[in-house]
Amino acid sequence: MARILIIEDNPANMQLMVYLLRAFGHQTFESPEGEAGLKTAHQETPDLILCDLQMPGIDGYEVARRIRLEPRLKLISLVAVTAYAMAGDREKVLAAGFNGYISKPINPESFLGQVDTFLPPDKRLSSSSSNFPSRT
Ligand code: MN
Repeated sequence: MARILIIEDNPANMQLMVYLLRAFGHQTFESPEGEAGLKTAHQETPDLILCDLQMPGIDGYEVARRIRLEPRLKLISLVAVTAYAMAGDREKVLAAGFNGYISKPINPESFLGQVDTFLPPDKRLSSSSSNFPSRT
């Protein structure tokens, strides 16, 4: 179980990520834009931050830049959730300070596994696979 902050302006994407993460036992915090997301990051120091790139106000790149400048936040795993799956954008995302990215559209079958790889080892679902809800 991990504490995960999601910064995403698209309500459908937000809803899907929250649903999947909570279904597998994670705790979520939600922000529809970057400034509020940074504030929540300061308040909650989550285990992982999932962040959209294109948002009104400050974009995901700016969120990443500010998080990496904060001593209290700079070691938090930060993952871009982005529709930009083209070559070149990966480098841009990593250069901005993200640890990696998950491509949109969100794939419910693989999303939790992708998130897991970015969590601290002791917060991963794969370290306690018996807690997985049965999938029929
Ligand atoms: Mn967006």
